[in-house]
Amino acid sequence: MKLPFVESHKIKMVESIKQSSPEERKQWIKKANYNLFNLHSDQVFIDLLTDSGTGAMSDKQWAAMMLGDESYAGASSYFKMKEAIKNILGFDFFLPTHQGRAAENVLFSAMIKDGDLVPGNTHFDTTKGHIEFRKATAVDCTIDEAFDTASENPFKGNIDLNKLEEVLSKNPTEKIPLIIVSVTCNSSGGQPVSMHNLKAISSMAKHYHIPVFFDSARFAENAFFIKTRESGYENKTIKEIVKEMYTYADGMTMSSKKDAIVNMGGFIAFNDEELFKKASVYNIMFEGFLTYGGMSGRDMNALAQGLDEGSEFDYLQTRIGQVAYLGNKLKDMGIPVLLPFGGHAIFVDAKKFLPHLPKEEFIAQTLAVEIYLEGGVRAVEIGTIMADRDPLTRKNRYPDLELIRMAIPRRVYTNSHMDYIATCIFNVFERRDQIIKGYKIISEAPILRHFTVTLAKV
Ligand SMILES: *Cc1c(COP(=O)(O)O)cnc(C)c1O
Repeated sequence: MKLPFVESHKIKMVESIKQSSPEERKQWIKKANYNLFNLHSDQVFIDLLTDSGTGAMSDKQWAAMMLGDESYAGASSYFKMKEAIKNILGFDFFLPTHQGRAAENVLFSAMIKDGDLVPGNTHFDTTKGHIEFRKATAVDCTIDEAFDTASENPFKGNIDLNKLEEVLSKNPTEKIPLIIVSVTCNSSGGQPVSMHNLKAISSMAKHYHIPVFFDSARFAENAFFIKTRESGYENKTIKEIVKEMYTYADGMTMSSKKDAIVNMGGFIAFNDEELFKKASVYNIMFEGFLTYGGMSGRDMNALAQGLDEGSEFDYLQTRIGQVAYLGNKLKDMGIPVLLPFGGHAIFVDAKKFLPHLPKEEFIAQTLAVEIYLEGGVRAVEIGTIMADRDPLTRKNRYPDLELIRMAIPRRVYTNSHMDYIATCIFNVFERRDQIIKGYKIISEAPILRHFTVTLAKV
């Protein structure tokens, strides 16, 4: 018999989690103003809010923490991180930052000005927030198929080269400071970008003399999909694929809380020394001195080790295999899930799940609340609330897709947790006809409102 697929790790330390009653959850979510971000973590049984900073570090990462060098300047931990970035990603220059959005803040301070256009595949919410905060515009050039939840296109993170060419050819070069390619594309469902597409973007950008930066939170998961889905890459290692990917980038921003499997941290990496120097000024202002930039030495050590582990095939197969395990369960139960499954999360199509609910009542948010009430599972809305209001008209932006995202933390839950989650969603699906009312907004922030919005039942 063929030996079955198994996880590439065993467990050395455990953390207890507590179940709650439906009555308790009803009270708690009401008190949280129906915003799942307001729940206390002990009110949540299985937490799929995000895969960001929620992973379990390895024994080797914890060992590296003990060797952290907390010197203010020139710490050995900084040089370890520098070496890992050079070896794995190929960049000569880098700046540590406390997380991904801090990297965006620093880089964009050096590059983006009022009135600029920043084309890319669907920009992540903090990326878009930092672009719009500078009165610039994020232009979404993702392929149309990305918004068709039933399409099985293997690279739904790809940029539509015609759309990109349109932006680049119709606008003055000075107005386009950079192109941002998100690998994998979080906002369109953790969908990968093919090597073929990265190469084509790079050559078009070179023609127009515009730098390309990869928003790299899940670069290793992207490489895994290239290996398993793109012809010509099946016999290459993840690290070889990663190296090739970054030959098509001029730089990158990184939220290390994802594929570097640390709880906090980020960085910017570049080829261009001039840009590095320009960004350094902002790094010192916003983050800290150049050799720590908002990170402690021990965290830089764990990050360096995590970059290496996170770009190993066996780890990625376990990780992405578990996400697919949950996805296949839901699919077999008839739940409308986004296909093909992304690397870090399973997305449920809330419009298909609750077709009778009007979009003004926040369909995906309603579904996320119901799933919490059912079994204490916390997912997140990726829909109208997250889409924010149009910065000019201040009207709600209604995205094509209303999704809930169930992000799977790295190396944290087992497959029996996945079974529990699937049953929880199935039970909500069985009673979906009784979910006839959604929510209305009571208060909201002017930007990135989903974190703090308060809601009431319609
Ligand atoms: C998480 C993430 C960010 C922001 O990083 P933080 O560490 O949360 O600040 C940016 N881009 C993408 C694609 C992300 O997934």
